[in-house]
Amino acid sequence: MPNNIPYKINLSESELPKFWLNLQAYLPEKLPPMLNPATGQPVEADELRKVFTDAAVEQEMNTTDKYIEIPDEVRNFYRMYRPSPVVRAYNLEKLLDTPAEIYYKFEGTNTSGSHKLNSSVPQVYYAREQGLTSVTTETGAGQWGTALSMATGFFGLDLLVYMVKTSYEQKPHRKDLMETYGAQVIPSPSDTTEVGRRILKDHPGTGGSLGCAISEAVEIALSRENCRYLLGSVMNHVLLHQSVIGLEAKAALDKYNITPDIVIGCLGGGSNFGGLIAPYMAERLQGKNNIQFLGVEPASCPTLTRGRYAYDFGDTGCMTPLIKMYTLGSGFMPSPNHAGGLRYHGMNPIVSKLKHDGYMDVIAYEQTKVFQAAKLFCKSEGNLPAPESNHALCAAIDEAIKCRETGEKKKILFGLTGTGFFDMSAYQSFNNGTMTDYIPTDEDIELGLSSLPKV
Ligand SMILES: *Cc1c(COP(=O)(O)O)cnc(C)c1O
Repeated sequence: MPNNIPYKINLSESELPKFWLNLQAYLPEKLPPMLNPATGQPVEADELRKVFTDAAVEQEMNTTDKYIEIPDEVRNFYRMYRPSPVVRAYNLEKLLDTPAEIYYKFEGTNTSGSHKLNSSVPQVYYAREQGLTSVTTETGAGQWGTALSMATGFFGLDLLVYMVKTSYEQKPHRKDLMETYGAQVIPSPSDTTEVGRRILKDHPGTGGSLGCAISEAVEIALSRENCRYLLGSVMNHVLLHQSVIGLEAKAALDKYNITPDIVIGCLGGGSNFGGLIAPYMAERLQGKNNIQFLGVEPASCPTLTRGRYAYDFGDTGCMTPLIKMYTLGSGFMPSPNHAGGLRYHGMNPIVSKLKHDGYMDVIAYEQTKVFQAAKLFCKSEGNLPAPESNHALCAAIDEAIKCRETGEKKKILFGLTGTGFFDMSAYQSFNNGTMTDYIPTDEDIELGLSSLPKV
């Protein structure tokens, strides 16, 4: 075997990280504060605690602790499916005839099928510690709702999921899965909330959006006793939990003295990307490496490549605080795309800041291009990736092909965030040639940005 690097670099259970890495504490400049939309003033932690758990609020605003301990009960759950493997894609390298080394960190080995379980488990653990009895959420593609239902099932809390209507209809088995773990699932927009009824009236026949489902879930959390709203991406505390991905990847690669030249991840709300790059970016921010960081987003929802760095609502219903982030405007209605997990108008504030300050690069790919890449990956690595993950692996393949041309022996690490088992309709439409590429026009982008609040 070349270089003695195994196909699969596994960590043992005892090497599971004991701490998450808080990338926020490494930023050279603090993040701009969240603002109260009514007053334009920074939000108080007390206001946030009405919607989010106490732990989420504390972690969200923690700008000082570089490491935060992973509670024992959370680690014990993690042990059932982590550490997740780092795989050297020898067979893909061979297929591409590239001198580059390609590594991927695979997060699809749990039943929910993606990395989202890494954050749902601690979030529900903290909710139970706080004495809450139920939680609400939204889900787009269904991965977050599924991950959360696994955690609420385990810790014994009730869960109400608002699922984007198009996904609810396209992926009925996701609903079945969530219900199996004890969750209640409602297609959004629905008539169970004020905001849902308003959206239904203004946009009859709409397939819904993540932002709209968020508004419904937040409304319920605010109106019920002992209930809070949990988020699967975008927020800083979610990125914190996802740092377990990067910490494990780095620990595994360090064993073989491998430092990647480029780290690549797909961008939905920014949590898997931020978590994967966390330990490497922390070093970069201290001047200790010169790694390139590359985020990949869908051309149909081009938040970082065509959006604006501005204060915006996290949801369509304008109920969340204002967050400084790259955004397409909370009124942006992304066109249909099979990578449902990447259809969100905003981006995590840390990732947004890193992009704004020039620490990372971004590209946007059309979906037919990433599915073409996925086929190469399937044939060589035998692993069916989630449509979201296809964006990252496509960039890794493009990078490896460049190396073939230049002769560079780059070490490429990318995040394979999930399995594609729940996305066979996406593969079906690619295989039978009906998949199309939707790219918003400049007018569509302007229209979305025109919904930005004046601050
Ligand atoms: C949700 C999801 C993503 C995107 O979300 P991030 O918060 O940007 O990580 C990517 N891949 C899969 C498989 C997902 O489920």
